[in-house]
Amino acid sequence: MSDPALSASPANDVTADGPLLEFNNLTVAFASEGATVSAIRGVSFTIAREEVVGLVGESGSGKSVTSLAAMGLLARNATVGGSVKVVGKEVVGLKEKEMSKVRGTDVAMIFQDPLTALNPVYTIGWQIIEALQAHRDLNDDEAKAEAIRLLSLAGIPRPEDRLSSYPHEFSGGMRQRVVIAIAIANQPQIILADEPTTALDVTVQAQVMRTLQLALDETKSSLLLITHDLGVIAGIADRVLVMYAGRIVESGTADDIFYRPAIPYTHGLLGSIPSVDSDDGGRLAQVPGNPPVLTEAVVGCPFAPRCPIKQDICLEVEPDLQPVADGHASACHFASSVIEMPIGEMFSIDDEVPA
Ligand code: ADP
Ligand code: MG
Repeated sequence: MSDPALSASPANDVTADGPLLEFNNLTVAFASEGATVSAIRGVSFTIAREEVVGLVGESGSGKSVTSLAAMGLLARNATVGGSVKVVGKEVVGLKEKEMSKVRGTDVAMIFQDPLTALNPVYTIGWQIIEALQAHRDLNDDEAKAEAIRLLSLAGIPRPEDRLSSYPHEFSGGMRQRVVIAIAIANQPQIILADEPTTALDVTVQAQVMRTLQLALDETKSSLLLITHDLGVIAGIADRVLVMYAGRIVESGTADDIFYRPAIPYTHGLLGSIPSVDSDDGGRLAQVPGNPPVLTEAVVGCPFAPRCPIKQDICLEVEPDLQPVADGHASACHFASSVIEMPIGEMFSIDDEVPA
């Protein structure tokens, strides 16, 4: 359990049950080569203390931009609107000096490539100890003992010996587990993990996810887990947000999303989870077609061109995110019938993009 006296500064206090992360109508547009990319078109959601929320969607849907907006790490060509509160503090428009304090204390980030987080010229032990001593009042012996404990928690064998190893001496999966160990050295209230297992092969992915779960058990942090792969969040997320064309198009409990999807797009994503025992040999099916180009104004439902059940209204009116059941919302004109449809039948096998 993290010590609140160490991790929360008084200015950042939120009430015990207030959300740790709160997006309110976030918009992000990028000026790019004479055109404007409307990357985020009004995103609102919250993450409660100790909650694990999965954010899924195909590449380009706006997942990374959403999390980078919370960290003040967007490119200079970004125009940001709306509000993002991190542990109660508004970060849209926050000066870099203030923002770096938020990043250093309340939030830890884990990216796809662990080498972006690790310095190649310092040992693993040095890097963990440095992170520990930056945030906690530990002498050298205490910090070393804690570093060994964290490496052991991350499942690194012979942690005492590995303190003197350099990042290049570790495999990709071990490096990512070290990054998780460093992330929790800060005792963050929130962890943002953007495609943390995407660069790894499937068996190693499972180990990294186990380490992430152990890290959460230890720190009681909230987690926003970003991935294009619904399979990655299956075992860990309490709630799932599905993103498409810069908006949240479905939100619900993990069970809602996996067993009662209420938009055709989620039906399609579920069909694309590779399964070892499927008769197609685990081949990845995909949702046919491509997401829209966000330099043009969106008219109608952005998924309509790819949707097997679209009607005239879908080409004319973009549906809002509306409740379809308790705690379950979806942006589809036909949500109440889609939620009744059997999974795996909406996109027939004939529509599959060949692997
Ligand atoms: P995801 O993480 O879901 O794959 P991103 O959040 O990275 O998608 O990107 C969302 C959209 O924003 C994409 O269309 C992407 O090309 C665009 N985008 C992201 N960063 C920039 C930038 N710096 N300039 C222009 N467009 C950008
Ligand atoms: Mg991304």
